[in-house]
Amino acid sequence: MLSIRAFSSHIARSQAHAWRSIATTSGSHATNSKVGFIGLGNMGGPMAENLINKGHGVSVFDVSEEAAGRLGSLGAQVCSSPAAVAEGCDRIVSMLPNSRHVQDVYAGANGILSTVQPGTLMIDSSTIDPAVSQEMALAADAKSAVYMDAPVSGGVNAARGGTLTFMVGGPDGKFAAARQLLECMGQNIVHCGAVGSGQAAKICNNMMLAVSMIGAAETMNLGTRLGLDPKLLAKILATSTGRCWAIDSYNPVPGIMENVPSSNDYKGGFGTALMCKDLGLAQASATASEACTPLGSAAHQIYRLLVNQGHGHLDFSAVYKYISEHR
Ligand code: NAD
Repeated sequence: MLSIRAFSSHIARSQAHAWRSIATTSGSHATNSKVGFIGLGNMGGPMAENLINKGHGVSVFDVSEEAAGRLGSLGAQVCSSPAAVAEGCDRIVSMLPNSRHVQDVYAGANGILSTVQPGTLMIDSSTIDPAVSQEMALAADAKSAVYMDAPVSGGVNAARGGTLTFMVGGPDGKFAAARQLLECMGQNIVHCGAVGSGQAAKICNNMMLAVSMIGAAETMNLGTRLGLDPKLLAKILATSTGRCWAIDSYNPVPGIMENVPSSNDYKGGFGTALMCKDLGLAQASATASEACTPLGSAAHQIYRLLVNQGHGHLDFSAVYKYISEHR
C-alpha cells in the first residue's frame, strides 16, 4: 500500500485531467438521477432505506435475493448485477463485508467498472484494507470516474436512525457531492484526506476500541476477583483516570448497564468476527507502514481465538466472558 500522502500526490497527477473532464461533462451531480446501492445487509439495508425515505430513486443489487427484495418492496428498482446498477446511476454507494467482496463488485466480471459512466461518483462504505480502496480508486480513474472510501462508525441503530459518522477519503473537489449524499444516511461527515484515509481512520479507531475493551474486561475481572463489587468498581473507574467508553458506555460485565449487549447475552451490537477482521486490517497496515502496534497485535490474537472458538457472532464485549472464564 502507498502511504496516504504518497497516494494523494500520485493520484492527483494522474487524475488532474480526469477531474477536469468530469467537471465539464457532469458538473454537480443531478439530484433527480437514481442512486445505486450494492450490499443490503444489516447496515446497507437501512442506509438504502434512508435514501428512499429522503426522496431518492434507488437501484439496488445484493447477492441475497431476499435482501434485494426487501428494498424492492419499499420502492427500489432491483437490478441483476453491479454492472446493471452502474448503467443507470451516476452515484453509487456500496456496503459490503470485506475487501474481496469490494474487489468483486467493482472490478469483477459484471462489476460496476465494466459499465460505469464517466463522471460517476462511487462511495464505498465497507470497512476494508486502505490499499484496496486505493486500488479501486485507480481503476475508477482509468474510467474517468471517482471512487471514494467512506467507512462508518455507529452500528445498526445509527444506520437505521440516519445518524452514522462517515470517515471520507477522496479528492477535495468531490467531497461536497459525497457529503450531499451521505447526509441522507449520517450526521457527521468528516473528510479525512485522500482515498484510503477514511479506512485508515476507521481501523485506527477500531484497534483502539478493541484494546480498551480488553483492558476494561481484564480490569473488571481483576477487581471482581479481589472482592470488589463490580458495579462500584465500574462507577469508580468511570470517574477516574481509567475512564473510557468501554467502561462508562458499553461495560462488558453483565448486569452493570442496561441496553448494552453484555446485559443481553452479548447479542446484537458489533460482532466479534467483524472486530477480528478490522484488527487484521490494522495489523496488515501496521506491517506495511512499519508502525509498532504490540497491543493491537495482541488484541488481534485474542479476537482470533474467540472467533475460532465459535464466538464470532457475539458482540465484541464478550471478550469479558473469555477472560473471566480463564485463570
Ligand atoms: P452484512 O453481512 O450484514 O451485509 C453485507 C451484505 O453484502 C449482505 O446482504 C450480502 O449478501 C451482501 N453481499 C456480499 N457479497 C456481495 C456481492 N458480491 N454483491 C452484492 N452483495 C453482496 O454486513 P454489515 O453488518 O452490513 O457490514 C457491512 C460493512 O460495514 C462491513 O465492512 C462492516 O465491517 C462494516 N460495519 C459494520 C457495522 C455493524 O455494526 N454491523 C458497524 C460499522 C461498520
